[in-house]
Amino acid sequence: MAGTRTFTMIKPDGVEDNNIGNILQMITDAGFTIKAMKLTRLSTEQAQEFYAIHAERPFYGELVEYMTSGPIIAAILEKDNAVEDFRTLIGATNPAEAAEGTIRAKYAESIGRNAVHGSDSDENAEIEGNFHFPVAEVVA
Ligand code: UDP
Ligand code: MG
Repeated sequence: MAGTRTFTMIKPDGVEDNNIGNILQMITDAGFTIKAMKLTRLSTEQAQEFYAIHAERPFYGELVEYMTSGPIIAAILEKDNAVEDFRTLIGATNPAEAAEGTIRAKYAESIGRNAVHGSDSDENAEIEGNFHFPVAEVVA
């Protein structure tokens, strides 16, 4: 059975473009409940660790630089079928390919500066949530 939690970040461009409110509105309108949330800024070490799976990709350096360029919102979200439904809500990685009405279609600038992160599996949702929040900070 699919899990009920996913992890998201509103990335530096989403914060900088003043879209925190718009994006959170879309998330809660889609039926997600916020279980933990904070405004924070990633250190280079944190961004490198968070995206370690992409370490060999050509865009890794740029990705780490971008993700540390300004504050982000990190949040744990709850809903039935959370991971898949959230990926549907955010749309394709490249906003040019993102379905109409998705968060990335509305608010992302480019494949690099694409407004939001969404976990790609239940396992990664758990790892990414734990990376940002101690258990005690997640609302029961
Ligand atoms: N990214 C990039 N160039 C690419 C592919 C990805 O800059 O060609 C960045 C982009 O910010 C993306 C992140 O790396 O969101 C992680 O890539 P992934 O393929 O996991 O996409 P996502 O899961 O975020 O849709
Ligand atoms: Mg991914």
